[in-house]
This record gives sequence, structure tokens and C-alpha cells, in this order.
Amino acid sequence: MAGLYIHIPFCREACHYCDFHFSISMRQLNSMMNAIEKEIAMRKDFLQGEVLDTIYLGGGTPSVLSASQLKSLFRVIKDHYEIGKDPEITLEGNPEDLVPQYIENLIKLGINRLSIGIQSFHEDDLKFMNRRHGKKQSHYCLKIVRKAGFKNLNVDLIYGLPGLTTIKWEENLDIASGYSPVHISAYHLSYEKGTVMDYRRMKSSFKIQDELTSQDQYELLVDKLHHNGYLHYEISNFALPGYISRHNSAYWNGKKYLGVGPSAHSFNGEIRSWNIAKNTSYINFVHKGSVYYEMEKLDHTSRFHDYLMTSLRTMWGADLAFILREFGQMYKAHCLQMAKPYLQSGRMEKNGDKLILSEDGMFIADHIIAKLFMNQD
Ligand code: SF4
Repeated sequence: MAGLYIHIPFCREACHYCDFHFSISMRQLNSMMNAIEKEIAMRKDFLQGEVLDTIYLGGGTPSVLSASQLKSLFRVIKDHYEIGKDPEITLEGNPEDLVPQYIENLIKLGINRLSIGIQSFHEDDLKFMNRRHGKKQSHYCLKIVRKAGFKNLNVDLIYGLPGLTTIKWEENLDIASGYSPVHISAYHLSYEKGTVMDYRRMKSSFKIQDELTSQDQYELLVDKLHHNGYLHYEISNFALPGYISRHNSAYWNGKKYLGVGPSAHSFNGEIRSWNIAKNTSYINFVHKGSVYYEMEKLDHTSRFHDYLMTSLRTMWGADLAFILREFGQMYKAHCLQMAKPYLQSGRMEKNGDKLILSEDGMFIADHIIAKLFMNQD
């Protein structure tokens, strides 16, 4: 079973923290969709005939697509791929697009999971991030999505934001939980190079949140959602039992996936590839049949690093028996040696053959994982 990711590189507004690949001009929307459909057809062999278990429309903002554009896209997918019996089909959308008629169309098209970019229920935070929607739209959208019977619903939230006090963060968590989404993704704000937010940070135009408040907000997130019955199954992802995202779990479990559209990444067990992150070049290259992606065959150590990067982010952790089998005794011994200080400090636990980050460890996961890489001090 494999996954298909489709990157829709358009947004109606640029959020100031975002470094994903997108354009706010819709001028090329139609030619982009033609190119994406062409790529879907051209690259069907990448997954070596595996049945699609998940389809994920991300971006960018896939909810800028009309119902007829989505219909055409699904027709091309069905023409070229075998889809499993009970696929998970996700669309990322923003509150301003998710109006009743549109939601009805999504259901008719077979989309059975919605991921909504709410980010905050506070007007000042939304303005600070340059989000296009306001809090009224968020409430309206969540109500109508619920009314339409969408059960498999994810809500995206952001913490660690300047001006977001822990009281406001708690309100965000309570309001979101009030709509009973089966999945919550909560990301700590990061200052990505080239974003407006990072530029403003460098100009000291606001006070960044201090580390202790960040840590408090992370702890509040984990405690509250745990109390509400959510599993903390990946650093930023929480799900009620039975609603772990199958698509994202496939990434973390090393399964095959094909990513189409500009900037999309793919992996088929051996080869990792990534598409050019420029709309015009992508469209032209796909139509001309020129090469529009780069690829690399992962060497032994890169595959080991990839495995650590993905497995240690999850509640299932890294499997030492798998490391021994796939990479050899030296890698397993290295892992155990480098994990020692974190096992002693309680940031990591060893459960049988599994090395698992504790909640404390998850907060600094990137740091710990980097220490477990080969050739690290
Ligand atoms: S956060 Fe989402 S909506 Fe905002 S610019 Fe990035 S991709 Fe677009």
C-alpha cells in the first residue's frame, strides 16, 4: 500500500511565517492543474504497482480548487492507479473556502478527511500571522463541517507565537477541543529564513517568546490533549484512537509515496526525489517532457539517519532489532551509546528493543536525533 501526495502551490494570501512553496497569483492555476494531471499519469510506475491507500492534497491551499478541478484530478488518479477499498483521502483547506456547497461537493467526490488551518481563535494572533480568515470564520467553518457530517477532521494550531500568552493558548486548545476534532496538529512557530516573520524578528519589531513560556505551552498542550483522550503519536500530532493520520504515518514508517506538483517529494524505498519548486518551470518542463525533478539513491548511513529522523518523532520509537537487521551491529551499538545520556536524564526510554522519546525528549527531538547520527560528538 502506498500514498499519493498532490501539492497545490497556490494561496490567496501569504502567511508571514510560511516557507512552503506557493504563489498568491492564481494566473497559472489551470495550466498548473493540467501539468499535475500529466505528472500523475506519467509517474505511475514510481510506486511499482502498489495500491493507493492514502491520497493527500496539501500545499499551498488545495481548497482554492473548484469542485470541477477536483473532479478532473480524481478522474485522472482513478484512470492510472488502483485505489484501496477504504482509502484515506485528505484535503487541506482554509476556513474562508469551506462554505456549505463546497463541503457538500468534497463529500460527493469521496474526500473523507479534512485538515483545516485554524491556527488561533484570537483575532490579534491571526492578524499577526497575516492569516486571511478571522475567528468568526473559523467558528462558522467548524460548525458547518460538523453539520455536514465530516467525522475525520484535523485542526491545525500554532503556539510559541509572540503575544500568545499561555492563557490564550489554553483558550485555543479548549475552543478547538469543543468542536471534538478527532485529530489536532499543533506546531511550534519556527522562524524560517526568507519569511516576513523572520525578517521582522531580525529587525526586532516584536519580542519573541521566551523558552520557558514555549516549554509551558508545550506541556499544557500535551497534558490537556492527553486528558481529553488524544494519543500523542508524533511530535506535533495528536489523535483520538482510530484516527491517526494514515498518510503521515506512512511517511514516518518508511512506506512508499509519490509526490506530484512543484516542490513535492517522493520515496519508493530506495530512491528519494524532489520536484523543482518553481511553478513556471515545473509547468513547462512537465509539458515538454524534460526532467523536472532531482533524485538521489540513499546510501547506507543516509538511510539510517532517515530512519532515526522519522521513527524517533513518533510514539513507536526506533526499533533496535530493525537497526541491527538493516544497518548492522555497529549502528545499533552507536545508537545505544549516544542514547545513554538521554536514557539517564529521562528524555528517552528503552522499552524492549524500542528507543522512545519521552514527552520531555519530544520537545527537543531534533537536537537528540542529531546526536544519534553517525559522526556526531
Ligand atoms: S500557511 Fe498555508 S495558507 Fe498560509 S501561506 Fe502557508 S501554505 Fe498558504
